[in-house]
Amino acid sequence: MQDAVLLGVLLTAIVLGFALGVRHATRRQRQVPLSRPPDLSREYFVGLNYLLNEQPDEAINTFIHALDINSETAETHIALGKLFRARGEADKAVSIHQNLLARPALSAETNEHVQLELARDFIALGVHDRAQRLLRSVLEHSSSEPMCLEARRLLIDLLERENDWHEALETAQPLMKLQPAMRRPAAHWLCELAEQEIAQASRPLARKHLKKALQFDERCVRATLLLAELDMENGHHDKAIERLDHILQQDIAHIPTMLPVLQRAYTRNDDLDGLENHLYRLLGQAPYTSVMITLGALIHQREGVDNAIERIGTWLREAPSLGGLDYLVDLYLESEKLSGKASPDTRLLLLKHHTDQLLSDRHRHRCRRCGFNSDSLSWQCPSCRRWGTIKPVTGVQGE
Ligand SMILES: [Zn+2]
Repeated sequence: MQDAVLLGVLLTAIVLGFALGVRHATRRQRQVPLSRPPDLSREYFVGLNYLLNEQPDEAINTFIHALDINSETAETHIALGKLFRARGEADKAVSIHQNLLARPALSAETNEHVQLELARDFIALGVHDRAQRLLRSVLEHSSSEPMCLEARRLLIDLLERENDWHEALETAQPLMKLQPAMRRPAAHWLCELAEQEIAQASRPLARKHLKKALQFDERCVRATLLLAELDMENGHHDKAIERLDHILQQDIAHIPTMLPVLQRAYTRNDDLDGLENHLYRLLGQAPYTSVMITLGALIHQREGVDNAIERIGTWLREAPSLGGLDYLVDLYLESEKLSGKASPDTRLLLLKHHTDQLLSDRHRHRCRRCGFNSDSLSWQCPSCRRWGTIKPVTGVQGE
């Protein structure tokens, strides 16, 4: 990291040197007398000396003072500010960018560019209100479409960090048609609002937010789950089951997320036959461990442990999994206990010890975008900040 920073400083120094050289050469060509003190290039070499002595801070300060601020050199100052921010010294980046903004000679476009950079510095420092003011100012005054787009993007990111879902929705509204990728986060912001309404016992408004979320993103599993929960609260279990069934089309990877809610809906409806049929259907389409175990537990409850052992053994041959094996060992131990054996088979206990150990070491959820692992399901990845990318891990070691 330190090497990369030094390399960055060195490159910037070369750019500065080049810029100074060009300016001096231009002056010579035009035969304009040198009005600046001749120690400009001396400062450049002083800076290089600092750099060679591995004193990058002093080097950068010297380079900044060696270079006038105008529209040609502003980009170099901005690059230096970025360099500071990248190495975790956003306060120094703020000084550079504020110093730039104080210069009236900057073009309107460069001024807006610096405001965006300064907003990024403030975000890095956690000073969100100042960042917001800068971004709103760019949005209000800039005539450059790319600049406004970037300011809007940064502002949305900031509003998300502040959990200001209403403002995030309003700010993103102009992008909804142009950028379809905005629709998924917007659906999750509406789910956040719905959860707030549910917490305050305002169900109709929550339902309204959730329906709008599905209009934004018809594949929003979270909205479907919340709507199913609301249906169940009203005693509409059939309606909830119908909704949950739709998750198969929305995102099959979320079957393990949906299963406990589905099980609850059928149980409250006192319809275990319906649950069993539904689970068999799911197993045919998504032979996940969680479906296998839920169905195995139901067979255990309704037909006894030996039938459950037989069924789980058959399914595991088709779709082997660690969780399924662990459950099968549980069933064997249960069967032994029921047969009246004084103590359990030590080989089974050893196997159970190993499967327990392997299961405790795994992560149950993973971000499909950045690979972030977690045990619980978060709808926004804490690492890459994408919405709806964390899903249950499926397959041999999964759910
Ligand atoms: Zn991620």
